[in-house]
Amino acid sequence: MSARNILVINCGSSSIKFALVNEAQTTFPLQGLAERLGSPEAVLHWQFGDTKESLSLPGTSHQSVLSKILPLAQEAAGGHLDGIGHRVVHGGEHFTASHLVDADVLAGIRANAHLAPLHNPAHLVGIEAAMELFPSLPQVSVFDTAFHQSMPPHAYRYAVPEFLYTEHGVRRYGFHGTSHRYVSKRAAEMVGVPVENSSWLSAHLGNGCSTCAIVNGESRDTSMGLTPLEGLAMGTRSGDVDPNLHSHLARTLGWSIEQIDRTLNHDSGLKGLSGLSNDMRTLYEAHMAGHPGATLAFEVFCYRLAKSLAGMACALPKLDGLIFTGGIGENSAAVRERTLEHMKLFGFQLDAEANARCTRGVGGEIQAAGSPRILVVPTNEERQIALDTLALLDA
Ligand code: AMP
Repeated sequence: MSARNILVINCGSSSIKFALVNEAQTTFPLQGLAERLGSPEAVLHWQFGDTKESLSLPGTSHQSVLSKILPLAQEAAGGHLDGIGHRVVHGGEHFTASHLVDADVLAGIRANAHLAPLHNPAHLVGIEAAMELFPSLPQVSVFDTAFHQSMPPHAYRYAVPEFLYTEHGVRRYGFHGTSHRYVSKRAAEMVGVPVENSSWLSAHLGNGCSTCAIVNGESRDTSMGLTPLEGLAMGTRSGDVDPNLHSHLARTLGWSIEQIDRTLNHDSGLKGLSGLSNDMRTLYEAHMAGHPGATLAFEVFCYRLAKSLAGMACALPKLDGLIFTGGIGENSAAVRERTLEHMKLFGFQLDAEANARCTRGVGGEIQAAGSPRILVVPTNEERQIALDTLALLDA
């Protein structure tokens, strides 16, 4: 059988990210992004091999841009596209694993739309458009939340009245599950321990950031909650604040719920603290040049990360290693170093040379002799979505 091709689609409210994954190739034969959909500036960018192209598509809809992406994918796959894998943010308690899309799965994604009002409706548009354009291709939905459905109640329940959980679904769901699952499996392979008898702390540090405790291939706790706002300080999200901050801002400043949501989700985190940028590269350069806001943002980010990882350790029976992933986790030796300086009781010691070497897609172990393992593991959510799609095709 020749190597199979899966198109992976991440359909957002005004953008579609896509990649063609070939099971035998480490790089993507085709990848791209359609952004600002529905606006006069809508544009489709893609890279096919070494060739980069862009097409302006003013006012175009999700459906019509997908009708352009699918033939590109067919061509890049040499006419042999085997399936489509869709990233879906919120599966609620309905979905504990990836699923072949059918009417029940579509209804389940719709039923969870109130938990991810910006994301799930956009995913449905993408899935339904792809099903219409390619009715004979199997489609699979892969949920960011599914991996965390193995958390025990003491990790996922909030200490609020029970009916808010039983009648309204108020609980910790967690996100970035596809990434935490992928990197913990990779880490086990890299160090040669069986994943079904392994324990990891994982830090996914991108523009969104979360930590996870993973035991025997299952999530036991994670820092994001009902929504992706909870937990670490992130690019533009505040992460944890006093829950009374909402009523305080409403009472003292007269802010609306929308204004509070916007501030905590889009104007906080690294961006809010530094007054400069949500981008860790920019902030680190500014920090080194003496910008006080950038220094504060860097310090808060690393301390909060260390504190969250230390808390996650409560869910582990042993520690096989600490994993750094995501744009910051994979690239910033300085964030890794500063974070571990706050975790002295764990005995982590970095090998400075190995830490500096792990950047731009280079992964590996970065601890000094005698230290618990510390690993940089490049994440690959697209590949994990393709692997799930292939596994369901085979089943
Ligand atoms: P992601 O959402 O995973 O693409 O990660 C985005 C974040 O990774 C941004 O904050 C970037 O500044 C950060 N990042 C990417 N490359 C580097 C780097 N070389 N050093 C520090 N941060 C980086």
